Amino acid sequence: MRVPQIGVLALQGDVADHARAVEAAGGRPVPVRRASELDSVEGLVIPGGESTTMSHLLRVFELFDPIAKRLDAGMPAFGSCAGMIMLASDVLDGRPDQRSFGAIPMTVRRNAFGRQVDSFEAEIDLDGLDGGPFRGVFIRAPWVERVGEGVEVIGRVSSGDSGPEGPGGRIVAVRAGACLATSFHPEVTDDARVHRYFVDMVRRSGAGEAD
Ligand code: GLN
Repeated sequence: MRVPQIGVLALQGDVADHARAVEAAGGRPVPVRRASELDSVEGLVIPGGESTTMSHLLRVFELFDPIAKRLDAGMPAFGSCAGMIMLASDVLDGRPDQRSFGAIPMTVRRNAFGRQVDSFEAEIDLDGLDGGPFRGVFIRAPWVERVGEGVEVIGRVSSGDSGPEGPGGRIVAVRAGACLATSFHPEVTDDARVHRYFVDMVRRSGAGEAD
């Protein structure tokens, strides 16, 4: 099977874990710190970390516009946690100067679960993923409060996990066209299924190339 080159935005956050997971999932990870490094990649992983810092560094490193342009042109992207925030069109509880790519029409709330618990783990049923529920590791995670047209909800925290104001039932995984986003951190588990799902999306988007 084809091994697509997949960029891992390497300005901040858990870059090494994502690179390892991309490799385990059948892709070739390429750290991206400057715009020229985007040229060789077919897809991009935006790691977790801190979206306000990432937004700032993207501007300092002059990477914001080049990435936005590739996303507009249909480059597949996977964002986990802060990466999900970076892909969203609307961010609640963000800093006024933080920017996001708006590649997925959805509203996310930063640190949303933090009002209940800072970090937790939960079994998440993910549509499109075989092999049973995925162990989601949530670290000061956002949730998705609204999805726009064309956004498919593929995972929620189970409704049994809390009371009516709590995290139960909240959307934590979405897919929209070539973009995938999770509130949790699949790169910190040994389960490469989410990354494999993304690598498959990238392979399929590489039109006309043989497997
Ligand atoms: N709370 C962080 C943010 O706003 C996200 C946390 C994470 O990526 N683990 O970016």
